[in-house]
Amino acid sequence: ATPTAVMVATGVGANNGVLIKGGESLERAQMVKYVIFDKTGTLTQGKATVTVAKVFAGMDRGEFLKLVASAEASSEHPLAKAILQYARHFHFFDGSSLTNGSQNDVNELKSGWLYDASDFSAIPGRGVQCVIDGQRVLVGNRKLLEESGINISTEVESFVVELEESAKTGILVACDGILIGVLGVADSLKREAFVVIEGLQKMGITPVMVTGDNWRTARAVAKEVGIRDVRAEVMPAGKADVVRSFQKDGSIVAMVGDGINDSPALAAADVGMAIGAGTDIAIEAANYVLMRDNLEDVITAIDLSKKTFSRIR
Ligand code: ADP
Ligand code: MG
Repeated sequence: ATPTAVMVATGVGANNGVLIKGGESLERAQMVKYVIFDKTGTLTQGKATVTVAKVFAGMDRGEFLKLVASAEASSEHPLAKAILQYARHFHFFDGSSLTNGSQNDVNELKSGWLYDASDFSAIPGRGVQCVIDGQRVLVGNRKLLEESGINISTEVESFVVELEESAKTGILVACDGILIGVLGVADSLKREAFVVIEGLQKMGITPVMVTGDNWRTARAVAKEVGIRDVRAEVMPAGKADVVRSFQKDGSIVAMVGDGINDSPALAAADVGMAIGAGTDIAIEAANYVLMRDNLEDVITAIDLSKKTFSRIR
């Protein structure tokens, strides 16, 4: 393609909310063999909601939610936001300390109702831990609890499995070495996800899903969206390794992601596509930015490349 053709294509892309950084990535997109999708915030809306909270240790429900929210208050993770929102709503509208405040008041009262947490740390791919009132509180996945030597009873395990099989993420909560409850968090698929996956397959492109979430939830989500190749429980650094493993035989690989933990993979891919609504770090690492936050633009980008570069043949 001539420089003019590349310039025209870049302009057409921009008009459709597809920002293309450079002619090389525009050229590579036509040869893509695999498109690797991050799960949370890329295939799903990234708006997690708590759908169920189960308390096991005979603790008061409001007390349980307040404790979990206090532990998550310093976390930036979408799961943490979902938990805080749910606990806050319970505290102000459903719990015993009911106030007659509006939703706005509730937002203003962000942290005043929480316990002070000290020694907070976020463990990537695991969850959070902190100390509240002299007790060590852990909120996260199985691995986090197992690594701290906390026993997960068969009752708790089967509850978590049930959540995961219905595509939800189970978040376990332990206090002072004892498992006290489980939260179920749901995150819906983007409405166009299924059609886009089907479209890629028709183009002879293999879609893949990669996530830090657990295998069971990952498989359930992949099944819903029609993706057969899934990589789950991948640590943030591991996503780039997944990209490289698909490049081994010389295949051209695209990665689509939104999070900080996707940026090494976006950089490693031949074609990195960041969701415009995603984090700045992901946007910087990518060759393409999909401004409309619509997965159909993955196909738009590949089509644009094909049209631009077929003219010279
Ligand atoms: P993803 O690749 O889906 O964006 P992450 O690598 O961010 O996932 O997290 C992987 C898993 O670690 C989550 O599914 C969750 O089980 C656990 N986790 C991470 N951060 C938190 C948190 N702040 N609270 C609870 N669980 C968390
Ligand atoms: Mg993500």
